Amino acid sequence: IPGVRKAVLSASPYAPGKTVEEVRRELGLERIVKLGSNENPWGPFPAARAAMAEEIGRLNTYPDVSFRELKGLIARQSGLGPEWVALSHGAEGMLQTMGKVFLDPGDEVVLPKGTYGLYREISLVMGAVLREIPLGEDFSMDLEEMRKAITGKTKLVWLNNPNNPTGLALHPEKVEDFVRCLPEGTWVVLDEAYGEFAAQGRLPRTKALLEERRNLVAVRTFSKAWGLAGARIGYALARPELVTVIDTVSEPFNANRTAIAGASAALREDVEAFRKALDAIVSERERVSLALEAMGLRVLPSSTNFIFFTLPLDASEVSRMLLEKGVIVRPCGGWGFPRSIRVTVGTAEENSFFLEALGQVLAERK
Ligand code: PMP
Repeated sequence: IPGVRKAVLSASPYAPGKTVEEVRRELGLERIVKLGSNENPWGPFPAARAAMAEEIGRLNTYPDVSFRELKGLIARQSGLGPEWVALSHGAEGMLQTMGKVFLDPGDEVVLPKGTYGLYREISLVMGAVLREIPLGEDFSMDLEEMRKAITGKTKLVWLNNPNNPTGLALHPEKVEDFVRCLPEGTWVVLDEAYGEFAAQGRLPRTKALLEERRNLVAVRTFSKAWGLAGARIGYALARPELVTVIDTVSEPFNANRTAIAGASAALREDVEAFRKALDAIVSERERVSLALEAMGLRVLPSSTNFIFFTLPLDASEVSRMLLEKGVIVRPCGGWGFPRSIRVTVGTAEENSFFLEALGQVLAERK
């Protein structure tokens, strides 16, 4: 297309999973269980739902661009002041902003190979040069190799912890050491989209690192544990000077009224529902992981609301067979893992439906 930037042409469009409506139309199935997008079946929680419904009546007016209330609530939760918080439309919005803040054409970025795909595309669109470090045999991120890949030109390191699609959490102290040893001009974007699902004490001490003025931006979202994926609201924690830069680069009204109302009400009044959902997801995660192991499959220990497992079969074919039985999962061939599947932890009933379908597929392929 004439006129489109060269760097833009090097990036690929996001490939979304199938929607329930698509599968229903294509296959005419009655029951469809979507476990392909790491959504939370328990959200939105009651106070968020009511606040969003009420806010619709105010959609003729712009939101408060200072985002005072929500920033205050996030600040209270994180133990930092509101001046350490920047909002965005989803974590994705903040990741895009990170590219705009840090990357000039020709700058280098370091990232693992099997991780959330957007880091790569954002970096390419900005004209940056990728240094991709393969995951280890055990699917873990090799922080040592990533550290070695940092040069004088490295502006950003993209770190997703716990990681999508593997579900693995890094050792917190190793992340802290990594951040503390960064050269002056290199920043880490620590994407903690799934952080709430990790066990207590399994995440690095972001607050301490930020207060030490390390080159760190932590990115979080209301899409996963807070069950508000459709509302599109995320945020970053960063030192106040950088928050000013982020707010300068972002669109001024980059979070909408309903999302702000929903996220604020959730943090104010839905904490109990949030905890209950989290407990349900974590206990189902353990049940499904054990059931998959009992089928003889290799299952990674998950710190997220999804499970990564490896089969002795082609994952795309298994996913297609599961789809024919009404279960949407995510085959991981695009990440370079042609025998692995990522499945979201749904309700107990959805998970049992998935396990039954997978059992049938494995029996058919015997
Ligand atoms: N980071 C990671 C690692 C993700 O998996 C996702 C969603 N799939 C996002 C960010 C984007 O989340 P949001 O819905 O907040 O834009």
